[in-house]
Parts: sequence; C-alpha cells; structure tokens
Amino acid sequence: MDQMTSHFATGHKHNFSAGPCILPTTVFQQAAQAVLNFNDSGLSILEISHRSKDFVAVMDEVRALSLSLLGLEGKGYQAIFLHGGASLEFLRVPYNMMKLNGKAAYLDTGTWANNALKEAKAFGETVVVASSKADNYTHIPKDFTVPADADYFHCTSNNTIFGTQMKSFPTTDIPVVCDMSSDIFSRQLDFSAFDLIYAGAQKNMGPAGTTLIVVKEDVLGKTGRAIPPMMDYKVHIDKESMYNTPAVFAVYTSLLTLRWLQEMGGIAAIEKQNEAKAALIYAEIDRNPLFRGTTAVADRSTMNATFLLQDESAHQALFDSLWKGAGIVGLNGHRSVGGYRASMYNALPIESVQTLVDAMQLLEQRA
Ligand SMILES: *Cc1c(COP(=O)(O)O)cnc(C)c1O
Repeated sequence: MDQMTSHFATGHKHNFSAGPCILPTTVFQQAAQAVLNFNDSGLSILEISHRSKDFVAVMDEVRALSLSLLGLEGKGYQAIFLHGGASLEFLRVPYNMMKLNGKAAYLDTGTWANNALKEAKAFGETVVVASSKADNYTHIPKDFTVPADADYFHCTSNNTIFGTQMKSFPTTDIPVVCDMSSDIFSRQLDFSAFDLIYAGAQKNMGPAGTTLIVVKEDVLGKTGRAIPPMMDYKVHIDKESMYNTPAVFAVYTSLLTLRWLQEMGGIAAIEKQNEAKAALIYAEIDRNPLFRGTTAVADRSTMNATFLLQDESAHQALFDSLWKGAGIVGLNGHRSVGGYRASMYNALPIESVQTLVDAMQLLEQRA
C-alpha cells in the first residue's frame, strides 16, 4: 500500500496541525511494531536499556544520518539529541555561545524568535538587529546589519505561527545560530553556513520529546562561563548524547522518519514535493475571492500557510463544516493571527492539500 492509500483508507485524518505533526504511515507502523517487539529482541522500545547495543546503534545511526542528510559529515559538526524542546535551546544557546560580558544579536521575526531573545537577555547584552513586530510579523525584515562584535547572530528560519520563512540568510563573520524547528530537512540550504542549528523533533521529524542540535564543534568552549553539565553541549557531545537517559522512543521514531527521507532521495526530493504542496495552496488562496493570505508573498512559508476568509461572519461556519467534513484537522490559525493555518510538513501528502483546496472551492460554489 502506498502512503496515501494507507493513511486515508484506514480513516486517518488529513492532519494540518502545526505540531506535533503527521509522520509517514510506514513510520507509524514501524514505531508501533517496535513498541511491541524492538528488533526481535523480545523487548519493547519503551523498556530497553538506552545503553543496550541495539539502542546505541540507533543513536549512532540517527546522529550520523542527520549530518549526512544536511551535507555536514566530515565538516567538524556534531549532532546530538537532547530533551527539553526547542524552548530549552533558547537558553542553552546563550549558555554555550555568549561570552561573559559579551553580547548577542537576534533577528525578531515572531513569537519563537522573541522567546529565544528573552532567554538570552538573562545572560548579557542583546541587540535586536531588526523586527517586524510592528507589522504583526507579516514579513521578514531584510535590510539590517549584523554587528561584527556580537558573539553570535540568532535567527528563526521558519516562523511557524506567522507563516513566514527566511529565503536567504545574512553573511557575517560571527557564528550563526538558527532555530529550524519547523523547516528542518524540508529544503536545500547551505547548512555549512550555520554554526549551530536546533530543531524540536515534533514539527518535521518525529514525536515530541527530543530536539536535534547540530553544532560546529569549534564554536564551543569560548565563553569563559561556568556551564552546568546538563546545559553544556560539550558534555552531551562527549557522552554521545547519553549523558542522561535520552528520549528513547522519540529518538528512534525520528530515526525512522529520517530513514524514510533518505530512501525517497533526501532533502532534494522532499523539497520538490514541499514546493508543489505550497504552490497548490497559495494558488488557491490567491485565486479564490473568498480568501486572502496574511503574509508578504516573497516571505511565504512552504511549511505553514496562513490565510483568512475575506468575510468571516458570512462564511466561517460553512467553511469550517466543509473542511471538517472532508476529514481535515488542525487547520485553525494560531490565536495571534486568527483565520487558518495549513501546516504542510514533510510527511503530509499532496492529496491532503488537494482535499483542502477542494473544500475552499466548494465554499466558493456554495457561499
Ligand atoms: C514549536 C516551535 C518552538 C518550540 O518548540 P518546543 O519544542 O515546544 O519547545 C520553537 N521554535 C519554533 C520555530 C517552533 O516552531
């Protein structure tokens, strides 16, 4: 059975949720099997020791595969899987990167960027190089300078809530840190332009519970700051992501998703699918007179498409009944934007996007 058939023939919903996200059907099946009997070990993935040979192999493979999918193997980078969500990396980043009496530069493109900035403020001076807050984050600021004397520059590649995505990144000599939680592994970028990338698994890679951190080792260890071991990337790298018990199931399921991605041709292949899905939904948002997009066209996210009804009071009840009736879930916009948000992560089949477009066209006929 191909992925689409098996997803929807079994009553699986068209899941447009912003996170946790839909995963490939084969991943759900393999993960379910591993809960019952992992690798024919007679043990569940939920009960095996994280120090067992089989799980150490999982951790080794997922770390290596993450680097190879990003084109970063052999380039001085390390990949680790930690707990605490992307939100804990907001804090771990300044711990590991901001010098005592140093400063850090942040680009403010939305709620998550702002949350990252708030954590850094506890460590030292922060500079906001640009912000689109005054426009409710409907676009990505373009003309800004990154101060050459900052310890690092932090940005958010995809703004999950506002539906914008950075299409280019500033060139600077200082280390670049990027929160890629909601578009990691979705498009080709020169990942070697980044010194530290982090991403919560639950947007595009796996279930909630683990975060991927990819870091160029030579940017670490320069702060002069005492770092508690749990906060110290070097400790987690030295312990091969096993300083404490890792999120065994979340890490294993992330590995299954990354294997699936590799088998289909890696980021280059999924990028084409993601572009096709985004083109389909945005074409309908632009064509259908009952809808409008919420963001600057040039900055539209391929992952999270945000849009509004032109006339909510007239059409909301009917539209909501149409998409819900079509088996769609997770389409309501974030409260800070309103309207709708179609999150189209890697595993969402284009058939789901077509189902949404059909519902939008049905509304136009019936309204
Ligand atoms: C969801 C999200 C976060 C927060 O992730 P948690 O794992 O819940 O801490 C941070 N950044 C971005 C871009 C996100 O989409």
